[in-house]
Amino acid sequence: MASLSDKITILKGIGPAKAKLFEKLGIYTLQDLICHFPRGYEDRSKLVTIAQLEVGQSCCFRATVMTTPRSHHIRKGLDLTKVRVADHTGRLDLTFFNNRTAAQRLVYGREYIFCGALSGDYMGYGMTNPVFEEVDAPPVITRRILPVYALTAGLNNAAVLRAVDQALAVCDPPAEVLPREVLESYRLLPACRAYQAIHRPASREEAREALRRLVFEEFFVFSAGLALMRADRARKKTAPYTHTDLTAFYQALPFRLTAAQDRAIGQIRADMERGVPMERLVQGDVGSGKTMVAAAAAYLAARNGRQAALMAPTEILAEQHFQSLSRLFQPLGLQVSLLTGSMTDKQKKALRQQIAEGRTDLVVGTHALITDTTVFHRLGLVIADEQHRFGVAQRSRLLAKGADPHMLVMSATPIPRTLALIMYGDLDVSVLDELPPGRQKVDTFLVDERYRARINAFIRKQVAAGRQCFVVCPAVEQTDGLDIRSAEVWADTLRQTVFPDLRVALLHGQMKGQQKEQIMASFAAGEADILVATTVIEVGVDVPNATLMVIEDADRFGLSQLHQLRGRVGRGQHKSYCILITRSRDGQTIQRLKALCATNDGFQIAEEDLKLRGPGDFFGSRQSGLPAFRVADLSLDMQTLRQAQEAAAAWIDRSGTAETPEAEALRDRIGILFRRARGTIN
Ligand code: ADP
Ligand code: MG
Repeated sequence: MASLSDKITILKGIGPAKAKLFEKLGIYTLQDLICHFPRGYEDRSKLVTIAQLEVGQSCCFRATVMTTPRSHHIRKGLDLTKVRVADHTGRLDLTFFNNRTAAQRLVYGREYIFCGALSGDYMGYGMTNPVFEEVDAPPVITRRILPVYALTAGLNNAAVLRAVDQALAVCDPPAEVLPREVLESYRLLPACRAYQAIHRPASREEAREALRRLVFEEFFVFSAGLALMRADRARKKTAPYTHTDLTAFYQALPFRLTAAQDRAIGQIRADMERGVPMERLVQGDVGSGKTMVAAAAAYLAARNGRQAALMAPTEILAEQHFQSLSRLFQPLGLQVSLLTGSMTDKQKKALRQQIAEGRTDLVVGTHALITDTTVFHRLGLVIADEQHRFGVAQRSRLLAKGADPHMLVMSATPIPRTLALIMYGDLDVSVLDELPPGRQKVDTFLVDERYRARINAFIRKQVAAGRQCFVVCPAVEQTDGLDIRSAEVWADTLRQTVFPDLRVALLHGQMKGQQKEQIMASFAAGEADILVATTVIEVGVDVPNATLMVIEDADRFGLSQLHQLRGRVGRGQHKSYCILITRSRDGQTIQRLKALCATNDGFQIAEEDLKLRGPGDFFGSRQSGLPAFRVADLSLDMQTLRQAQEAAAAWIDRSGTAETPEAEALRDRIGILFRRARGTIN
């Protein structure tokens, strides 16, 4: 017997060259190979007769070779081999294009299993390039439910198939990690069956069951791991904050906080008083007022003699936070500084000195905050805004600049409640489910090109009333062969032909930080009427005078992203609108976009996105640095997810710290999973 950790080169037919190809798929060991699950299946299990073959459908049939294969060299690059086969119901001519070697293996008078799609018209039927195996050879590519694997150039499905077959034959599959009672109560296949069945299912039903079991396992291990992490965290210590009176802070605010903001601040204060490093996510729709919650946290840190750092994903956003927080904190006698990458070295150096000497209470910045040269003075609180833009690695680099500082992450990407635990399972969550009073609903419309003239007239009307408009395009530049509106080209068109009399500005992600900053600032100051942009404006930008958001080729964006974009308007006292333009005629796409017109509630939109497109999108956009799922991405059903979470929670309660070998095996597995995730992002 071989071991799972053996290199795949111990298998027959895998030399160093082949092994290199497998490495491209991330496969080094037998374990990797066995965990290279099929992307799907092709059902070749049924045998039909020649008479039962149907045009266009791929089928297997058993037939005898009636003629010696005859090859013709037609011209350079075209080689034809013809052979006739028959069974008791009829005969069929097979043609092999440029496949002489394969075809010449067919021996006159012998029987084979063929698999291919019948082609035919009034001239007669035939089949091109079928695959075949001898009748008494073991079934590899016919007479089975054929797994279809992810491949790489030079490595075909049959090669992966053979390698997996061998691996399954020479070593035991990975050990069982699911507790017996879990297997029983959720009726899951045991590991030994599941690994066989996912690669070699006897039926479609068995393939489904194997997948369900493996997805379950993955979620179970993951959920249990998160629960253990939380338990670990609860044991960490930090000095409790004692000065937690917020009266002065509340008095300095220009408005009354919403009940949701109050609640979140209360939770943060309780965290800080407890003497355990806080790790909290504030999740709230665009405009729900997350910044003030962060400000309260920074205020508490400062009152307790600690520095706070707020990291924003873009310079524009950092600048805005700096402005609003300086305004708030100055009367309170707190010092706020801004540190971004586009400052001059001299400026940065002076600032860093100021930070290191503790002459500032709150540092707002971009990634510049996490560079080695930034040294903090008693860093007590780290805040990451729009946390989905940062990975765990960046977050932890910032955290490492203090001694177990509190951490607050803020996200405006509403995650459906059902997924929140999986995606943010290592964090405590505060939800801002309420908008400040007086916010108006942004009226949203879905239109197609026929409305172009009316849209243009509407833009004019807004501008004439003194308002400003955003026009968002899915691409920066025109790409050959892709019919997507590009910001650069569209800005030119608007400037030159559509609105030559209006001030049209352009903003996109390929511009330099400082340039973006300047354009955004000038738009915010009312120096342009229309800002044509890409999704760089998605995050946090505040221009209260902007009342119209036009989104070109809206079908190119995810619902949650569109919702974010829409959140850029409706921030002042004026009635605001969002116009989604699409050229798509796809029913599902239209339905998806219409969901956005129906509601302004980000959480509801996220639920809708989840219903329509499945959870893949949420996981896809996740950059949290938590482990990526191998099987779960293939088939994520919410029910399995919920069951696995429930089972993991129960297991942690029952045996999370048990000394049994099973509990230890599971903890090992959790360790490997989470270490791998950390390893890949650093
Ligand atoms: P987001 O949650 O999207 O980060 P912000 O913190 O940027 O939201 O807040 C959006 C706007 O609402 C800001 O202009 C902010 O000053 C304002 N705001 C925040 N809280 C309140 C409140 N309780 N009452 C009125 N306005 C508020
Ligand atoms: Mg914000």
